[in-house]
Amino acid sequence: MNKPQSWEARAEEYSLYGFTDMPSVHERGTVVLTHGEGPYVVDVHGKRYLDANSGLWNMVAGFDHPGLTKAAQDQYARFPGYHAFFGRMSDQTVMLSEKLVQVSPFDRGRVFYTNSGSEANDTMVKILWFLHGAEGNTKRRKILTRWNAYHGVTAVSASMTGKPYNEVFGLPLDGFIHLTCPHYWRFGAEDETEEQFVARLAQELEDVIAREGADTIAGFFAEPVMGAGGVIVPAKGYFQAIQPILKKHGIPLISDEVICGFGRTGNTWGCETFGFTPDAIISSKNLTAGYFPMGAVILGPDLSDRVQAAIEKIEEFSHGFTASGHPVGCAVALKAIDVVMNEGLAENVKRLAPRFEEGLKRLAQHPNIGEYRGVGFMWALEAVKDKATKEPFPPHLSVSERIANTCTDLGLICRPLGQSIVLCPAFTITEDHMDEIFDKLEQALNKVFAEVA
Ligand SMILES: *Cc1c(COP(=O)(O)O)cnc(C)c1O
Repeated sequence: MNKPQSWEARAEEYSLYGFTDMPSVHERGTVVLTHGEGPYVVDVHGKRYLDANSGLWNMVAGFDHPGLTKAAQDQYARFPGYHAFFGRMSDQTVMLSEKLVQVSPFDRGRVFYTNSGSEANDTMVKILWFLHGAEGNTKRRKILTRWNAYHGVTAVSASMTGKPYNEVFGLPLDGFIHLTCPHYWRFGAEDETEEQFVARLAQELEDVIAREGADTIAGFFAEPVMGAGGVIVPAKGYFQAIQPILKKHGIPLISDEVICGFGRTGNTWGCETFGFTPDAIISSKNLTAGYFPMGAVILGPDLSDRVQAAIEKIEEFSHGFTASGHPVGCAVALKAIDVVMNEGLAENVKRLAPRFEEGLKRLAQHPNIGEYRGVGFMWALEAVKDKATKEPFPPHLSVSERIANTCTDLGLICRPLGQSIVLCPAFTITEDHMDEIFDKLEQALNKVFAEVA
C-alpha cells in the first residue's frame, strides 16, 4: 500500500496510466524517477536501476549525455521554437533534412517532420492517399501491415498495428489489412522449412493483392525487426521475397525504422541489415536519442519526386504540426546523429552484439526458455512451459510480468512482452553493464520458473 501523500500515491491519484498493468501498480506502486546516470535511472528513494530498455528503446546515449543537453540548451538560448509552415523554417531544420537525406540509403529525398512515430506513420499514410489520388488512382487506399507489427497509437497508426488490444477502441479502421507475422519459430508450420515458410508468406501477399486488387492498395509498411511485437527478426529471405511482389504491383514499401534506425540493429538502418531498399523511411525514438519528441518521414527519390510534383499541381500540401521541424528538436537530432555515428556508439553495438548473443544463448539453455532472438542491441527471451512443444505458460500466471517485476526489485529494468522479456539497452553500455544485466536476469528467471514449474 502507498503511504498517503507519497510520490506513489500522488501518481496514482492524478495520472491516467497508458500501457500499464493496473493490478501490478496497485500491488507494487509506481516507480517515480528523478534522474538518470549513464544507462541507470534513479527513483525518488534513491534506488538505482540499470534500464536495459533504454527508456522505450530511445535513450540510446544514456540519460546524462552532456553534448546532447548542451545542444538543447544552446538552441533554446538561440531560438527556442518555431514551425515549418508558410515557407518559413529554422536553419536547424534545413540542416537536419540535408543530414537525414545524406545518411539515408537514398541518393536524393525529402523530409517531413512530426512530433512522434505514430504521427510520422499517419503522415506517411496521408502522403500515400494524397499521392495516389493526385495521380488518378483514387481507389489506392488500403494499407498492408503484419500481425504483431507496432506502428503507433493514433487512429491510423493503431489500425496499422497488428495487436488484439486495439479491439477495445473498435480498431482497426476498415482498409487496414494484416498479413502473417514472419516469425518462423512461432508461426512456421510443423515440418515446414524456413524457406518454405517464407514462400508461403510471399504467396499470401500475392493472394491478398489478387483478392483486394492491386489498384486498391496504397502501401505496405514493415519494421525491419518488429520491436514491440517481441523483437521478431524476420525469417531469412523474407524481404527479398516480398519486395519484388510489391514492386510488380506498384505498391510502395515503407520501412518503419522508429526502433531500428540509427544503429539499433548494428547498421545505420534496419533495411541495410536485412538487405532491402524501401521507398520511404519512418524515423523517431533514437532520432533525437530520446532527448526531444520528434518523428520524421524520409521519402526516397521516386516518392519524393512524385509527391513534390503532386503538391506543385495543387500549390499547397495541407498537412503539418505546429511543432513540425522544431528548432530545438532539429538541433538535438543533429547532435544525436553525430553522437551515435561519430562517438563510437554504433561501433559499440557492433562490437558487443556477439557478446550479448552469447549471454542470451547461455540463459536460453534453461528448460523454460523456448527461444532467444534478436540482432544488434535488440533481443528477447521467450518463456515456454514446454520447450519441445513450444507450449506457452497459461496467461493467468503472468510469467513475463513476474520476471520483469523480480528484475525491478533487483535493480534491473526489462520489459515483459507477451511471454517474452525484451532487452534493448543504451548503445553506451560496457561489458560490466552487460554482466549486470545477465546476472540479475538469471536470478529472476530461476526464481520465477521455480515458482511456476
Ligand atoms: C514506438 C514506435 C512507433 C510509435 O512512436 P511514438 O513516438 O510512440 O508515437 C511507431 N513505430 C515503431 C516501430 C515504434 O517502435
